[in-house]
Amino acid sequence: MDGAVSENRQAKASTGGASGYLTVDLSALARNYDRLAADVAPARAAAVVKADAYGLGADRVAAKLYAHGCRHFFVAQFIEALRLRPLLSRDAEIFVLNGLQPGNERVCAEAGIIPVINSLEQLQQWAGVAVSQNRRLPAVLQFDTGMSRLGIPPEERLQVAAMLATCGMIDILFIMSHLASADEPDNAQNGDQLAELGRIAAEFPEADLCFANSGGIFLGEAYHGVLARPGIALYGGAPTAGRTNPMEPVVHLEVAVVQTRTVPAGTRVGYGGAHVAADATHLATIAAGYADGLPRSLSDRGAVYCDGVRLPIVGRVSMDSITIDISALSEGCLGLGSLVEVLGPNQTLEDIARDAGTIAYEILTGLGDRYERRYR
Ligand SMILES: *Cc1c(COP(=O)(O)O)cnc(C)c1O
Repeated sequence: MDGAVSENRQAKASTGGASGYLTVDLSALARNYDRLAADVAPARAAAVVKADAYGLGADRVAAKLYAHGCRHFFVAQFIEALRLRPLLSRDAEIFVLNGLQPGNERVCAEAGIIPVINSLEQLQQWAGVAVSQNRRLPAVLQFDTGMSRLGIPPEERLQVAAMLATCGMIDILFIMSHLASADEPDNAQNGDQLAELGRIAAEFPEADLCFANSGGIFLGEAYHGVLARPGIALYGGAPTAGRTNPMEPVVHLEVAVVQTRTVPAGTRVGYGGAHVAADATHLATIAAGYADGLPRSLSDRGAVYCDGVRLPIVGRVSMDSITIDISALSEGCLGLGSLVEVLGPNQTLEDIARDAGTIAYEILTGLGDRYERRYR
């Protein structure tokens, strides 16, 4: 049977040992950046590269976007900033969204990393370093405008202003907040948060605003401030729910077949025998499972593709493999080493996320390190 497998299905198999190939189209990434930067101009577009640039490789993604003119990079955790700092030129600014843990302040100041200050306590500690080292330090002030997740409560803005005036050593680069419902343009929470941010900003008349994530960019100019913070849209995810996705896909994922078989009607497939073949079925097992970021909730739901043909997932998703029904393909079309499409022209991130009952962000950031990452 393997002899019948067309050569081009196997053409991409490599000697690196991987059974799945995650291709990151850096040109498409750069075009997405350009598109977003044009949308927010004259404001500027940062790049959110937290969680290893949503799983795509923060080193490669940040380098590409820097070469493309991006100078503002947001990570979530301080450790991500420490890893990224030596890879980027000094004129690239790196911001830590979650702010600093007690004890990180000195390392942060020395490394030239800019914390997002989310509480009076963090401000006090950052100011303490500035005073003790007798040097001005930059910071972003994040206010909570209605998400109740991270940021200084709006009612503490007077205390913040007083503390800044007393210390006199902290340069506020931006007043920042984050939208909870930016992917839903009709959600009234967006306007409420915008109004709240406006009231806070009135207390800091000198400061520039940094507000929009991917979805926020598409809510219009009022949300752009001077610096937007897109993440998912850079990586090809849809910024707005239920609308045509204006972004270019960046990620392709292909996984190799490790076994094929034909089973008679009544055959059980996978753990728990949860799937029973209704008819004689051609099956293939592919070499990726929930440990590779294809959620177990795809069991008996969802599909992969070959030459545009939908191949449904049958039975439970295993840790390292998934069984698919390939009966729709002609005999011998797929064999050992053949590649099937998990993400690509036939299946978007949003498609697989919907079938898995989750969001594109979780799929993207979950894609495991057993895939060979190829940058194009
Ligand atoms: C993750 C994150 C972003 C990027 O959000 P996207 O929806 O991926 O564009 C922006 N700002 C903050 C505070 C975030 O946590």
